[in-house]
Amino acid sequence: MIGEPRLDALLALQSTDMRIAELIDRSEEIPRQRAEVAREITTLENEQRERGQALERTRLDRRARESELETEQERRGRYERQLEQVKTNVAYSALLSEIQGAKRRIGELEDAILSLMAEHEEHEGRIAEIKVELAAKRSEAAGELDALATEEADLALRLARDQVVREALVAAADARIYRLYDRLRRGRRFPALVPLRGQACGVCHGHLPPQIVREITHHGTLHACEGCGVLIYAE
Ligand SMILES: [Zn+2]
Repeated sequence: MIGEPRLDALLALQSTDMRIAELIDRSEEIPRQRAEVAREITTLENEQRERGQALERTRLDRRARESELETEQERRGRYERQLEQVKTNVAYSALLSEIQGAKRRIGELEDAILSLMAEHEEHEGRIAEIKVELAAKRSEAAGELDALATEEADLALRLARDQVVREALVAAADARIYRLYDRLRRGRRFPALVPLRGQACGVCHGHLPPQIVREITHHGTLHACEGCGVLIYAE
């Protein structure tokens, strides 16, 4: 036997706590839902950033190759002018081979510059596409995110109100019974207060001794079920 329970207040506390638990569950889902809505946008934003960085890399790479190309072209021009002034066959063929080398290098650099230009264009094209996709996705998401923000604010308000109600009910509750109830509540053991069903616990259907059934039904006392731990009362 636990004692005079002030049952109505305790039942009111339990329904407040069950509502609080639901409000908390829902509040915890919102950030996940928001992340879900934002996921596609985040993916696009990441690609946009990566493409932007790649664009900058190709631009710098191309500038370096272009300056190298200019150097090679000058070198080649210099060799070609020297060619007109050489006196020996040995010097002539040495210069020719330098010119060949410069030409080969110029060809390689021109190829590299062309492929960097193509890469640059590809990034620019994709960046333009992403911009359009992002605008569409953002306006799609805006409505959903607004609804979530509204719901979140509403949940916070209801939670705050229920917390005030709960504090008043706890203050009015019998301390010893409250402790028993609170242990169940912390374990999210809802319902923690369960009506007697016949001569058994309404949750685990464990039978209670006749003496205890009498105490519950005639004296309005609460008993902790030995089977499952809930607090049993008479309706
Ligand atoms: Zn039980």
